[in-house]
Amino acid sequence: MSNTNVQTSKKTDEVAIQLKGVHKWYGQFHVLKNINLTVGRGERIVICGPSGSGKSTMIRCINRLEEHQQGDIIVDNIELTGNLKNIEAIRREVGMCFQHFNLFPHLTVLENCTLAPIFVRKMPKKEAEEIAMHYLERVKIPEQADKYPGQLSGGQQQRVAIARSLCMNPRVMLFDEPTSALDPEMIAEVLDTMIELADTGMTMICVTHEMGFARKVADRVIFMDAGEIIEENKPEEFFNNPQSDRTKKFLSQIL
Ligand code: ADP
Ligand code: MG
Repeated sequence: MSNTNVQTSKKTDEVAIQLKGVHKWYGQFHVLKNINLTVGRGERIVICGPSGSGKSTMIRCINRLEEHQQGDIIVDNIELTGNLKNIEAIRREVGMCFQHFNLFPHLTVLENCTLAPIFVRKMPKKEAEEIAMHYLERVKIPEQADKYPGQLSGGQQQRVAIARSLCMNPRVMLFDEPTSALDPEMIAEVLDTMIELADTGMTMICVTHEMGFARKVADRVIFMDAGEIIEENKPEEFFNNPQSDRTKKFLSQIL
C-alpha cells in the first residue's frame, strides 16, 4: 500500500492540551500539586478520583474558570497566562459541560444555543439558528427547539447544554460529571451523546465515574487523589491491574 494510506490512518501526534508542573492553592490549601498531563489531538481522557481530589479545579484551570499559580497550561499552542487575548483565544477552542447544565431558563432551547454565536461571535441570526438546529439534531432533540429548559427532562437539558457548546465549534470538550445530577434512566442518553461525539474525533476530557463509558471511550483513564495524578493507564490496564493502593481502594468503592 502507498504511504499516503498509512499517513491518513495514523492518529495525529499533535498536542491539544499540555499541563506542565501545574500547582494551585485556594488560600493556604494546596489543591493541585505538580500536575503533568499531555492530551493529544483526538484523544479521550477520563478523570476519576474521590470527591475533593481536585478534578473540577484541574479542568476548570484549562479554560481559566480557575487560575493556576505555578506551571504552564498550553492549549492549542496558546499559553494560558493573564493575557486576556490568550484567555479569549483558549476559550474559543474549549467547550465545557457541567453537572448542572447552566442553561438560561428564560430563553428557549434554540435561543440558548444561538446566544453566544450571535452575541460573542457576531454570527448572523439565521446562520446561528441553522447551526444550532444541526447540533440539536445531532443530540437528537430538534423537536424541543422552541421549548424552555424547564419543560425538558434533565437528560434532555444536558443534551441541549452539549449542543450549545458545540455551536461554538470547539476543538476540545471538557465535561465535569455531566451525568451525576441525572436520574438513572437519563444517564444513558447523555452518555450515548458523548460516545457519538467521541466518534467524531473530538478531543475530550471527561470527569466521570461512569466506568462503562470509560472502558468504551477512553484512550486513557487518570486517577486523581488529594490534588495529584496518582495513576494513569489505558482503561483495560487501569481497571484490571490498578497499581496504587489508593486506586485499588477507590475502584473497590465504585465498581
Ligand atoms: P473534585 O472535583 O475532585 O470533587 P474540587 O476540584 O471541586 O474537587 O475541589 C478540590 C478541593 O478544593 C476540595 O477540598 C474543595 O473543597 C476545595 N475547593 C474547591 N473550590 C474551592 C474554592 N473556590 N475555594 C476554596 N476551596 C475550594
Ligand atoms: Mg468536581
